[in-house]
Amino acid sequence: MLIDYEFAFYSVMVTSIIVVFWLEALLPLEPDNWDLEHLGRNFIIWLLAFACADLLVGYYLVDIQLFIGQQPFGVFYWLAPPADWVLILLGLILLDLSDYLFHRISHHSRFLWRLHAVHHSDIRLDISTTLRGHPFELIVSNFWKFGIALLLGVPIWVIGFREIFIFPFIFLQHANVKLPARLEKALGYVLITPVIHRLHHSINREEHDSNYGEFLIIWDKLFGSFRIPESLRPEKYGVKNLESDSYQTIDGMLLTPLKIYHHAGLPQITKE
Ligand SMILES: [Zn+2]
Repeated sequence: MLIDYEFAFYSVMVTSIIVVFWLEALLPLEPDNWDLEHLGRNFIIWLLAFACADLLVGYYLVDIQLFIGQQPFGVFYWLAPPADWVLILLGLILLDLSDYLFHRISHHSRFLWRLHAVHHSDIRLDISTTLRGHPFELIVSNFWKFGIALLLGVPIWVIGFREIFIFPFIFLQHANVKLPARLEKALGYVLITPVIHRLHHSINREEHDSNYGEFLIIWDKLFGSFRIPESLRPEKYGVKNLESDSYQTIDGMLLTPLKIYHHAGLPQITKE
């Protein structure tokens, strides 16, 4: 398959950001929600995460371009390599399931929660929350993703294809956007919509321990983690005890995994 992966990756990403920014201005859930400092901090942490992953393990873990058209390993490969369109479809579905599992484990594993809490500790939700994550989380989650893909025999280029395909939805899920109710409802039969994902950012633990899906809604419904949002947004975003500015600054976000600890079942408990 001929594709300039890097060009596609960056052009879809930049286009998604521009379109979702425009939607935030056009259909805001909360008007006048702009906060340049918030946008800047989240953008910088993303740049750091990206640079870190690049320096430590190479561009986005591996140069996907090198893997296009190759599949030397994995269950599908051993059985019988299916046609490209079957691989793409299976890859999209199985990688979505693997992301759901990783996300769910991240809420219940002490180590992973320390990293994932950086994404959740954002006390306001907008397009920039999509970019907010600890550099080590990006690295660990990519090891998981590539490991699963290699084990199953999903070609690495399918990971790249999926990333590009779901970019617009991931940005939209965090955006300060109020979609028309009928569109939100129609999309919600199949996908994780902004309203469904917002509940996952609630400060209330029962609410943020639900709706783990990244793209398809089926996994939450199948594995009992789906929670119906009762309003367009939860009362409050963030993580209990991580609301202060010391967890919102760049160095605060980077140090969050070291500063928090949790007892079993109480991952929000923090130690200053
Ligand atoms: Zn989460």
